[in-house]
Amino acid sequence: GATIGILGGGQLGRMLAIAAARLGYRTHIYAPEESGPAADVCACWVRGDYDDADRVAEFARAVSLVTFEFENVPLAAVERLAGLAAVHPPARALAVSQDRADEKRFVESLGGAVAPWRPVDGRPGLDTALAAICTPAILKTRRFGYDGKGQARIDTAADADAAWAAIGGAPAVLEGMVAFDAEFSVIVARRADGMLVTYPPTRNEHRGGILHRSVAPATGIPARLLEAAAALTARIADALDYVGVLAVEFFADGEDPILNEMAPRVHNSGHWTIEGAATSQFENHIRAICGLPLGPTSLTGRSAEMLNLIGDDIDAWPRLLAEPGAHLHHYGKHDARPGRKMAHVTRVTVAR
Ligand code: ATP
Ligand code: MG
Ligand code: MG
Repeated sequence: GATIGILGGGQLGRMLAIAAARLGYRTHIYAPEESGPAADVCACWVRGDYDDADRVAEFARAVSLVTFEFENVPLAAVERLAGLAAVHPPARALAVSQDRADEKRFVESLGGAVAPWRPVDGRPGLDTALAAICTPAILKTRRFGYDGKGQARIDTAADADAAWAAIGGAPAVLEGMVAFDAEFSVIVARRADGMLVTYPPTRNEHRGGILHRSVAPATGIPARLLEAAAALTARIADALDYVGVLAVEFFADGEDPILNEMAPRVHNSGHWTIEGAATSQFENHIRAICGLPLGPTSLTGRSAEMLNLIGDDIDAWPRLLAEPGAHLHHYGKHDARPGRKMAHVTRVTVAR
């Protein structure tokens, strides 16, 4: 069988490598760390910096195609790879989703709604943006943010200095806070020929900017709103000639879906699909990038719930092990630092 190269060796790489193995593929991981959650399930772990051109080229020569589990891989590294091996999803999807301002402009160009926003290029620019966007607002670095890092809330104009300092004075966007009714995400898998499958939208709860819980199907959100979000997600995938799994986070605001952000990769809010859907997001990503038929995305039960175990939450592990029907996924990380995703648990409710 072919060998799939994955940039990034965290838990998403681990679950991709497991799905790939089940379909008969070997995986090689490229990551700057010495080891990581994907290390014990891949055939080969190559340690290297993403901008080490020679090492990246050597990695690409040993694999049939390359994908990534981490959207902050330097674009230049991915573009370099694209000259040496097939790379999915396309570099353009990575470029758009690496920059919050570019992402919002792109979504708006496709007719999608985002929170009111302004680009912020310097401290004076923050005042200009605050005059245009009502508080409460949230200042986010344009690049490299995840799990709520690189963000600062602004409740009144008096918070501006502290917020600017908190994000380190980097190029940013200012967003109006959306008083949402719910958060949800739409995950699709698309193949190069345009075949696309959509997972049932997932309702998400965050705590402290980090995903805490996901439930599918997304109950309590108007069906027309969910359909509009799914249609926009498919439009985004088509516009990018996307290949692989794409996840898009939304706010449900009255009758309208407001796009929060997109991730050009498998997504934490899709972990429930391993046991809760006919084909997992990880398997469909591998199927998509290998040009195989995509698998069905229907629920295996009536509903599925996924809980993240973050930091000390991992202390619940023995109790969860004793719970019949709890599907456990430990990422093999040793150090349970606060805010670190250590494991997740999925419960599927079966129809009766
Ligand atoms: P990740 O990539 O890990 O999902 P992130 O660091 O990119 O996270 P965001 O998705 O931008 O962060 O924000 C994290 C959470 O903060 C959101 O899921 C939402 O709960 C809240 N949030 C962010 N922006 C807004 C907004 N404009 N209005 C209301 N809530 C928001
Ligand atoms: Mg994000
Ligand atoms: Mg997010």
